[in-house]
Amino acid sequence: MVSRMNTFNGLPTKQPSTATDVSVATATRYRGRFAPSPTGPLHFGSLIAAVGSYLDARTHGGEWLVRIEDIDAPRTVPGAADHILRTLEGFGFEWDGDVVYQSRRLDHYHAALVRLQLAGLAYPCSCSRSEIAALASRPSVDGGLLYPGTCRGGLRDGAAARAWRLRVPDREFVFHDRIQGKVRQNLERDVGDFVLLRADGQFAYQLAVVVDDADQGVNAVVRGADLLDSTLRQVWLQQCLGIATPSYAHVPVAVNAAGEKLSKQTKATAVEPTEGLAVLCRVMRFLGQAEYPDGTGGALRDFWRWAVASWDMARVPSLRSASFAENGCRQPKDSRADNAA
Ligand SMILES: [Zn+2]
Repeated sequence: MVSRMNTFNGLPTKQPSTATDVSVATATRYRGRFAPSPTGPLHFGSLIAAVGSYLDARTHGGEWLVRIEDIDAPRTVPGAADHILRTLEGFGFEWDGDVVYQSRRLDHYHAALVRLQLAGLAYPCSCSRSEIAALASRPSVDGGLLYPGTCRGGLRDGAAARAWRLRVPDREFVFHDRIQGKVRQNLERDVGDFVLLRADGQFAYQLAVVVDDADQGVNAVVRGADLLDSTLRQVWLQQCLGIATPSYAHVPVAVNAAGEKLSKQTKATAVEPTEGLAVLCRVMRFLGQAEYPDGTGGALRDFWRWAVASWDMARVPSLRSASFAENGCRQPKDSRADNAA
């Protein structure tokens, strides 16, 4: 697609002049990760992302890292991170290296922000939410407000910076998701200049995740499709920072009968290792994988050995979301428990 001339100056290094086509291309050893937010205990929805990322990494003979995304301090629940890690251990996951906590990496996010500021790519914004709402002409791709660009040319007289935003270009970006296929976005039209440092002083998720994946050498991301629409923002940030783009695979998000994503907000029931293989087999069915032949009474290590050998990304449904029933769950009673309010 034709892109209009972008108006940036001071871009550091690689500035693509045409649509960006990001494919799976990793010559080095596969390194994946699972990055839960400690806003509550592990639930079925996050277990899907854990299993998908774990099996894809192990099938490729790769490493699998765990990162606790506790960047959003107001949403972080004390003790939740430890609970998630114990739950992963209980299910038999084995991660490589030390667990990384975003809350301990603020200096890295700050350094990245300074680079973007010095390059003229990040700019201060004084707009309140109501000011943006009054001027936003349409919603952004993920349902938020499309920033109208008020402060792009500088702060208004007497206005104080509340947040820092990243300039986005008016051109089409494309990437190939290993599950969802080709995804296109014009960042200016669909997303708008997005926040890097929030008005409450918290670094934005988009900045943290890009810096972390780069610093940890992650070259293959498998995660929930609720983040699909964020990906091209992250690709643009990677280009602004001169960072390689990993491959991406977005697994369907589990939704309840009302079509709501399973999360703490929808009161999704936590998964417990005491549920053992039954819940892991439900995850495998949800991901379209072969049926575990040994039933649900065996040892976890036997299950994982089988799961790594039989994992097939091509079988994962290319859907953004799915409910259990539609994915052939054979335990309606259990799936009701997962959906319980
Ligand atoms: Zn503004």
